[in-house]
Amino acid sequence: MVKHIKDYSTANLDPWQFDHFGAKTQQDINDYPTNSGHYAFSEATKPFYLKDEEQEYIQERPFKWIRGYQLGGKSLLWARQTQRWSELDFQSPKKFNYGVDWPIRYKDIEAWYTHVEKFIGVSGTRDGIANMPDSEVVGAFEMNKVEQAIANSIHRNYPDRHAIIGRCANLAEIKEEQKKQGRTKCMARSLCERGCPFGGYFSSNSSTIPYAEKTGNLTIKTDAIVESIVYDETTKKASGVKVINTISEEREFISARIIFLNASTLSSNLILLNSKSSRFPNGLGNDNGLLGRYILFHNYRGRITADYPGYEDSYYYGRRPTQIFIPAFKNLYVQEPNFKGSYLIAFSAFRDGWRRSVDGLQVGAQFKDMLSEPGKWKISMQMQGEVLPVYDNHVRLSDKLDKYGLPQLITNISYSRNDINMMNDFLEEGEKMLSKSGAIKIEKIDQHIKFGRQPGLEVHEMGGVRMGEDPSNSLLNGNNQLHLCSNVFVTDGASMVSTSNQNPSLTFMALTARAADYAFEEFKMGKL
Ligand SMILES: Cc1cc2nc3c(=O)[nH]c(=O)nc-3n(C[C@H](O)[C@H](O)[C@H](O)COP(=O)(O)OP(=O)(O)OC[C@H]3O[C@@H](n4cnc5c(N)ncnc54)[C@H](O)[C@@H]3O)c2cc1C
Repeated sequence: MVKHIKDYSTANLDPWQFDHFGAKTQQDINDYPTNSGHYAFSEATKPFYLKDEEQEYIQERPFKWIRGYQLGGKSLLWARQTQRWSELDFQSPKKFNYGVDWPIRYKDIEAWYTHVEKFIGVSGTRDGIANMPDSEVVGAFEMNKVEQAIANSIHRNYPDRHAIIGRCANLAEIKEEQKKQGRTKCMARSLCERGCPFGGYFSSNSSTIPYAEKTGNLTIKTDAIVESIVYDETTKKASGVKVINTISEEREFISARIIFLNASTLSSNLILLNSKSSRFPNGLGNDNGLLGRYILFHNYRGRITADYPGYEDSYYYGRRPTQIFIPAFKNLYVQEPNFKGSYLIAFSAFRDGWRRSVDGLQVGAQFKDMLSEPGKWKISMQMQGEVLPVYDNHVRLSDKLDKYGLPQLITNISYSRNDINMMNDFLEEGEKMLSKSGAIKIEKIDQHIKFGRQPGLEVHEMGGVRMGEDPSNSLLNGNNQLHLCSNVFVTDGASMVSTSNQNPSLTFMALTARAADYAFEEFKMGKL
């Protein structure tokens, strides 16, 4: 259970109030061998990360499965970047022949993006970019001087490229809709992942859960693991779920007319694979054997750092919770010769802080004086690339059980040649854009080679229960309903057909709202 405000135990602590100054300890690394390698893991955020021993899994090829198993899940931890997918994102897998066709198009989800954005509050500008459709926005954060200089240079040198302030689910301004949820404006503390007492960013805990509770129709059950979905051969529908109480370890059956399975991508795959019956011996709805196949993630391998000379009289106020985005500009209309799929770029410029080294000095008054002034401008630039659906990238169940008696999940997921070619393209293009803007000391980094970065760390896992028109090559229909068991809906990342280059969670939310509306209408008509 994580109650909004009450359970954000580290939200107001200063660095010196932590036992280890916020850093992770050797004990943390032992307890969280997977999650402690994640960028947002720290002494301040570890209450929201899962200890590996809670649900062990087997990495056949290295894949970091980042999890938060509390009420609200990873919505407490997320970085809140929220772009809409465009028509091109839905068309591309078929058009460029790298995946099955999406059963929906932008027009099918457009109104649901609006619905979600108005509720959660998305900040940003309206930029009129075809491949990143405008959102309903509540104010925007601003670029600093150096970011603006780089953006101007990109617009000058590349008429088809844009550099915009990132759209994120932080309330740069507040509207009535969010006030009704008891939330206030974002204070730009950028301590979001500890839980925000202001409700300044969207998390399920600050927004949707308390709002749903107000209806009086919501029952929350924590400390409970869904083991499987039970299929009834006579009705040809699911009758409910088997649940394990994590404290008493007792098992119970909870019946349901309609089931929305949203345990996060890989857990939803696990639950379906574990939902075996004589009708579905390989997992619920899995006649075609594709359940757990085509697992997707985002390609974060490429990163660029640089220095930016000048502007030393310029600073910024607060810790803005977003970055600058360069929406995708490759493989939108014409296919590049050596890679498929598109990538976007995020970057920021900042003054080097007091942890920097200062001209060989390590102690003394002069050293302290110099550290009390901000350092030079630095730039950090990162790719977010589309990963193609690959049959071999899969999850399946092991015979080995976890501590609650559930089969451990085997992950067999890795980079492909396409990911490496795309990274090289980003490194080349990023370097050119920065160099033209006046940046110096540009370093191009393959994070996999330099830091051993593995897939999974971007926490954008998708697929395994993909949507599609054709039941022979997909598991869900265009309303996220299992083709073979109509009262089970999967609307989290597991349902995704492709990844696009955009952040995924806004689309998960829009798909969920759309499917919930559909299920309700069907229910009213007695069809479910
Ligand atoms: C640091 C970080 C930064 C991120 N940044 C972004 C971003 O900028 N933009 C973006 O789009 N996405 C981002 N993400 C990803 C985003 O957080 C996820 O896509 C999103 O939270 C997925 O929502 P979900 O409900 O599917 O899964 P989760 O948020 O993981 O919630 C799943 C819930 O299901 C529960 N559960 C799991 N298994 C079971 C079971 N067997 N029985 C019962 N309950 C179960 C869990 O306890 C949890 O409460 C980020 C993630 C992290 C960690």
